[in-house]
Amino acid sequence: MHRFVLSAGRRAALPFAALLLVVTASLVPASAQDFSGVEVTIEHVAGNVHMLKGAGGNIGLSIGDDGILMIDSQFEPLAEKIRAAIAEKAPGKVRYVLNTHWHGDHTGGNAAFGASGDGASVVAHDNVRRRMTRKQQIRGRDVEPAPPGKLPVVTFNDQLSVHWNGEEIRAIHFPHAHTDGDSVIWFAGSNVVHMGDMMWVNRFPFIDMDNGGDVIGMINAIQAVLAKLPADIKLIPGHGPLSGRKELEDYRDMLVATTDIVRARVAAGKDLEAIVEEGLPEAWEEWGGGFIKTDVWLRTIHRSLSGQGETFWHPHGHDHKH
Ligand SMILES: [Zn+2]
Repeated sequence: MHRFVLSAGRRAALPFAALLLVVTASLVPASAQDFSGVEVTIEHVAGNVHMLKGAGGNIGLSIGDDGILMIDSQFEPLAEKIRAAIAEKAPGKVRYVLNTHWHGDHTGGNAAFGASGDGASVVAHDNVRRRMTRKQQIRGRDVEPAPPGKLPVVTFNDQLSVHWNGEEIRAIHFPHAHTDGDSVIWFAGSNVVHMGDMMWVNRFPFIDMDNGGDVIGMINAIQAVLAKLPADIKLIPGHGPLSGRKELEDYRDMLVATTDIVRARVAAGKDLEAIVEEGLPEAWEEWGGGFIKTDVWLRTIHRSLSGQGETFWHPHGHDHKH
């Protein structure tokens, strides 16, 4: 988290329906999805960095003289379309893939671009590989271990830098936020950060508490990131439109305010069902219009506050409780 020397952003219109579709689709097994109608587009962000949209998590691309570095890999069936879109910007194959976390809509294309495919080195936090090598559960659905070709081959436990296309590209791990293996990827020269699924734009986040996610850990992580971001930083969220500081501050404010509400209700002796029944003030209504509805969000906060998830202060790699 250290040494962010970044600098701004402004806001884009939010394609709410598109975000809902993408996020919902991301929790359906890739094999059950039809990708034939997916359109892959690339927009320039700043400096060397571009954002690729298709289905699943937004991809970040560093394109320059050294070649192509990719943040996240969406789904395997999209690899051909992704290659074609990149080829319109630059020749050559992807040389590095950095995964922001282990979820399948961010790592599904790893094998296509990695050592068993185009030959890129796949890089991620230790916990990304750890989760992918074992059977996991997401919201009650089993996720089978990933085949070896999808696994990161270079892993790190805190942060890692790739010196590429004339700038430092730094992956910085946060222990318990969306999962226990989240990294933000900071493009120091281009003044861009890929936030992975640590950032949600105008939507309550999915916190994967069965895989080390935690609401309090998320708040701490976002505060730490905001403390380092300059005003003119550009942010690529895991899903949704290109954003800036304003969107991340709004998200932080929502996290803090709604967590305070649940904390106060718990302190007043209310049980979970009473807390959910009461809902949230109208100010937060719009945030419940996506994949995570208000009731699910309240339950997530309550579970975090009652310590039923994995506790956020543990260092890396402990198995979670269910
Ligand atoms: Zn995710």
